Amino acid sequence: MLNKVVIANRGEIALRILRACRELGIKTVAVHSSADRDLKHVRFADESVCIGGPASAESYLNVPAIISAAEVTDAVAIHPGYGFLSENADFAERVESSGFTFIGPKSETIRLMGDKVSAIRAMKESGVPCVPGSGGPLNEDPEENLRIAKEIGYPIIIKAASGGGGRGMRVVRSEAALPNAVSLTKSEALAVFGDDTVYMEKFLENPRHIEFQVVADTHGNAIHLGERDCSMQRRHQKVIEEAPAPGITEEIRNRMGERCAEACRKIGYRGVGTFEFLYENGEFYFIEMNTRLQVEHPVTELVTGVDLVVEQLRVAAGEPLSYKQSDIKLTGHAIECRINAEDAKTFMPSPGKITAFHPPGGPGVRWDSHIYTGYVVPPYYDSMIGKLITTGNTRTAALARMRTALSELVVDGIRINKELHEDILRDGGFIAGGTNIHYLEKKLEA
Ligand code: ADP
Repeated sequence: MLNKVVIANRGEIALRILRACRELGIKTVAVHSSADRDLKHVRFADESVCIGGPASAESYLNVPAIISAAEVTDAVAIHPGYGFLSENADFAERVESSGFTFIGPKSETIRLMGDKVSAIRAMKESGVPCVPGSGGPLNEDPEENLRIAKEIGYPIIIKAASGGGGRGMRVVRSEAALPNAVSLTKSEALAVFGDDTVYMEKFLENPRHIEFQVVADTHGNAIHLGERDCSMQRRHQKVIEEAPAPGITEEIRNRMGERCAEACRKIGYRGVGTFEFLYENGEFYFIEMNTRLQVEHPVTELVTGVDLVVEQLRVAAGEPLSYKQSDIKLTGHAIECRINAEDAKTFMPSPGKITAFHPPGGPGVRWDSHIYTGYVVPPYYDSMIGKLITTGNTRTAALARMRTALSELVVDGIRINKELHEDILRDGGFIAGGTNIHYLEKKLEA
């Protein structure tokens, strides 16, 4: 097993990784910003190193500082968590060329999947269904672009190959609007992502977001762990996730999951990963792959019994997966609510000191969070302060547990988005299951 791991992240995920390391007897190094000295995992870690100022650019994105921390503590591997440097191929390369293990895929794989055009090409070759589209970068020729769009059929969407975080996309509904939209998206993409490559695909009007979890080792084994439904979103940010996805049969799950696992074998994938799809009228359309652990991984853990972070660490240590595909059986239903330090109505961030805190509990309740009474939520980072996850034998039972758990959750001193979740959990459409990615925004407008 790995001897000592640097946790290059903060908040709940840093604590989650620390717990998995401890279970495996791995020593931990917390690297943190000067604003994060009081984080729970910093206190729990075997060692901690302050790597820079509060701004992410000075600390959690500070590659030389993170590598130095690994060097001075004699660590052997670096876990990037999610966000920050987790999908940065240059970082993964630096980690490995400095003699450490990057807990994630090879840097080439991150690079391949980080460019959406090359990712789509690789997926097509592996038999993963993609959105009908240009299949490659658009050039400057307006006539050619009009021809491609006509073939796909309007509405279409122009997307930046290097895009992320829901940025660098533009929907086009008519021929007249196309040339301008292409040049605008190109210049935006250049400004934001430093790359003006754009491509075109069919715009799906009312899809659901369904994603498949995979895990692969360095011995050629790759398995899938079923799907999650993450359609409840606001501004492309997931709010609630669940597993399994309502209405997805075992037959569909196995067929799609096996395609994803097969794609992993083809590209030599290593570690955990997620294939994101839009799902409309019974068809799946690949949009991108996340080459890292995801925020919503617990719902999959709770229905499969697999500890995804433990598997990540085992794979990074060169061990084979602990499971074969036939070992994976889904049991019951799990749902996750992202608890943010923000106003439930205006969505304004609400950093500050937590004056009182009571976590929910009881059977089938999991609370992944770093907060405690007296903890000060800093204003510098993402507003998520915890994830509340419940399970039940059925979806109805998991939802009932979530309502009870939410009612028990007390976080005083700052505002949290608890009422938003309570509202969604009372919503008839959500209770019925299978709502699309626009559902929440429409509900909020109403
Ligand atoms: P990012 O990397 O920025 O998250 P994605 O490719 O994952 O970009 O797309 C983000 C979101 O944009 C999707 O979840 C979906 O809501 C919307 N979207 C992307 N492609 C399409 C499409 N072809 N049709 C409809 N919506 C799309």
